[in-house]
Amino acid sequence: MKAGVVHAREDIRFEEIEKSVPKKGQVLIKVKYTGICGSDVPRVNGDACHFFPNVLGHEFSGTVEAVGEGVTKIRPGSRVAGVPLVPCMKCPDCQKGNYSLCKHYSFIGSREFGSFAEYVVVPEQNAVPFEDEVSFEQGAFFEPATVALHGLKRVPWNGGKTVAILGGGTIGMFVMQWAKIFGAREVVVFDINNERLELGKRLGATAGINTLEEGFMDRAKELTEGQGFDYVFETAGNTITMRMAFELAANKANVCFVGTPTKDLTFTVKEWENMNRKEFNLTGSWMSYSAPFPGEEWKLVAHYFKTGELKFDESFIFKKLPLSQIADAFEMYKTPGFVKGKILIDSEQ
Ligand SMILES: [Zn+2]
Ligand SMILES: [Zn+2]
Repeated sequence: MKAGVVHAREDIRFEEIEKSVPKKGQVLIKVKYTGICGSDVPRVNGDACHFFPNVLGHEFSGTVEAVGEGVTKIRPGSRVAGVPLVPCMKCPDCQKGNYSLCKHYSFIGSREFGSFAEYVVVPEQNAVPFEDEVSFEQGAFFEPATVALHGLKRVPWNGGKTVAILGGGTIGMFVMQWAKIFGAREVVVFDINNERLELGKRLGATAGINTLEEGFMDRAKELTEGQGFDYVFETAGNTITMRMAFELAANKANVCFVGTPTKDLTFTVKEWENMNRKEFNLTGSWMSYSAPFPGEEWKLVAHYFKTGELKFDESFIFKKLPLSQIADAFEMYKTPGFVKGKILIDSEQ
């Protein structure tokens, strides 16, 4: 089969490798689309790849082609989304159902071969079926959509409240939509890009605030009658938005950091003290799993994509490229700000 194989830093090649065979409890998926994740970029353009040669790709959709011995829940022909985490299922964290926290996990598309290929093999429980109403494009967005939903599950959630979403990227757009689906009164998206803010409003946000504009904090506070937001989700992993979260939180708010940090972060005393003075709860969110594995997150994405309540906008996709052009896709990330949205790799082309 054909695959995009990483051989070294900045060396990813479209080439022939041996086709995977499903073993006991595994399914063979004929891959349709795989999204390039932010975490894939340093694995090709930097030094984050676990080993060479490696096949990345963990946000994928496709059709089950064959199943191994003992597979009961999935049939050949099923349309499925890939679940990348393969937890050990034995450690104390796994036994409590906290699969994201497992230290002995494998991961499809980083620690074992992933879906930048014509085929990928995964354990049966790592294939989530979806119905015909859900497209293969949407199938490749299950993972980010579940990451967003897991953020909501990390806070004591109540409907009827005000919610701030910091960062209008793919994850931010999904957190915003989940907040609406689960009954938020107002959801405001914060970003530096007006197009993303417009997209947010198209998808149901109450308002969008450009944080590059002067006086944005006052306008944000006005939207909540000076109270601040009951829930604040940081989805950009940016030091500026992380500090902003402390500022935007209401008294007794819940603040959740979903974005992956990339830089050291410092607070002024005044910024930091917000946590004391407002008595807000601060927590983080990691990946998208719960018991029974892979968790409600995955079921709900399949459900709400099907009903259309979880909206999918074509602008989530920056470009679709055939697998044969995977090297060009990673090249695009070398120009800062060039890639706006998700690049989908089409394994059938
Ligand atoms: Zn990812
Ligand atoms: Zn474990």
